[in-house]
Amino acid sequence: MADNTLSVFALGGINEIGKNMYVLQYADDIIVIDCGSKFPDESTLGVDLIIQDISYLQENREKIRALIVTHGHEDHIGGIPYLLKRLPMPVYATRLTLGLIQIKLKEHGLLRSTELVQLNADSDIELGTINTTFFKVNHSIPDCLGIAFQTPVGTVVHTGDFKFDLTPMNDEYPDIHKMAEIGKKGVLLLLSESTNAERPGFTQSERVVGDHIEDAFRKADQKIFISTFASNVHRVQQVVDAAQKTNRKLALLGRSMVNVVSVAEELGYLTIPEGMLIEAQEINRLAPERVAILCTGSQGEPMAALSRLASSAFRGVSVLPGDTIIVAAGPIPGNEKDVARIIDNLYRLGAKVVYGSGQTTGMHVSGHAHQEELKLMLTLMKPTYFIPIHGEYRMLYMHKLLAESVGVDSDNIFIINNGDVVDIQQAVARQTRSVEAGEVFVDGLGIGDVGKIVLRDRKLLSEEGMLVIMVTLNKSNRQLITDPDTISRGFVFDPDSADLINEVNQLVMTTAAEWRDTEANSRNLKRKIKNAVEKMLYARTKRRPMILPFIIQI
Ligand SMILES: [Zn+2]
Ligand SMILES: [Zn+2]
Repeated sequence: MADNTLSVFALGGINEIGKNMYVLQYADDIIVIDCGSKFPDESTLGVDLIIQDISYLQENREKIRALIVTHGHEDHIGGIPYLLKRLPMPVYATRLTLGLIQIKLKEHGLLRSTELVQLNADSDIELGTINTTFFKVNHSIPDCLGIAFQTPVGTVVHTGDFKFDLTPMNDEYPDIHKMAEIGKKGVLLLLSESTNAERPGFTQSERVVGDHIEDAFRKADQKIFISTFASNVHRVQQVVDAAQKTNRKLALLGRSMVNVVSVAEELGYLTIPEGMLIEAQEINRLAPERVAILCTGSQGEPMAALSRLASSAFRGVSVLPGDTIIVAAGPIPGNEKDVARIIDNLYRLGAKVVYGSGQTTGMHVSGHAHQEELKLMLTLMKPTYFIPIHGEYRMLYMHKLLAESVGVDSDNIFIINNGDVVDIQQAVARQTRSVEAGEVFVDGLGIGDVGKIVLRDRKLLSEEGMLVIMVTLNKSNRQLITDPDTISRGFVFDPDSADLINEVNQLVMTTAAEWRDTEANSRNLKRKIKNAVEKMLYARTKRRPMILPFIIQI
């Protein structure tokens, strides 16, 4: 691209909720915004985490000036250790966000080697030719920023995740004046999040949840278990406040809850009265009406505390009939079933369960702007060009309609895919080219070594099972030394199907003989056996197990 072109694209976060990563490039300066991860679903068996394909960044590594992180949610910070392992770069974020990033860097042994730069809403930093300023926004975690990039071509605004909470916790008001000022000076391009673009009206203030939590605490007459996102520090504070008002001690269950609460308290984002926190072992020593337990697992994660409590598998802590369980979080799309199963199990244990964001329970409000708030942001920024980000296609589409309704020219709105580049030259934007973008799987210690083929294999194995066929050949005359040995796993159970396995062995012998007589010099025996057995088994069973021939030559 020509030197006076500003290029903007996403390497993740478009047509999905998760693994956000946006890139801004002007000449030899690249700025990366956010580096999230995405949790796998049923289609990605056994994968731990999904992150971005960063080929483009690796090819242009000398141009990268910074990773700027808007806030501390997993879909914005979860991929950072995997990025930095392959591509070290300075990381800019606010104090709490840095605190949460540091937990990850420590786990991956990257803390000492990484340059961390602390931001606040007043920061003004020069990154090559791009001057970068910030504005405070509300969300479901404290210390969130929107970003304004002053580039030689014009100003680009990235909202981060946001809502407009006019009665925020800790007086963390959204910086509406500053947003208006940025908009008044002229915004060339706005990138705004789209999560709730389908929802009308305004999202409610976080304070509403606090009132409902306190109410539920007052009504409870035995132990209280309450589950929420550990990172929703304001909600955790409201739980602490409710515990204090109802004279209960508080125990924390789950590693991320303990980690995040201690970082948030250390950094002053959370105030817990002295002596309120107790260890899990102390829960049973206190009267049930004097105890509250704050735990992880509000998304139904099978290994998290709430799920283990619901299946009576948490050592030393039990849910008893009459205990109150509060699920103070909404399920992220896709997690509804897991959450529902846990709630079922809790009812089976005789617990009183309070959940949902309805008028009666009110245990959750969204941290993402609804339609009217999205329109407010668009109106404050008055951008020439607009790219809806952070959402699935229908959300991006709805956001486009909202932008049109407040006067953004329809031709100036780009609904893009991950990898699609919007180039702006002399104030004219075009979308004609793309860069490599895609999914990389993290599985155990491996980054990217599990690909589509491995996943297809895992799917096949889980559905159809596998057959291992051992063939031992004489190296010199290519004769079978022993009969083939076929082992089945997850396909057929051997004792009942000895005949079928015998038939497989027979077929392998004939195939090997044929091969010896006609093309013994080729290395095709493996494939021939695989094809022949596959065909025969499909004819007999209408199933296609994975077939793995092993040929040993002695
Ligand atoms: Zn977020
Ligand atoms: Zn997000």
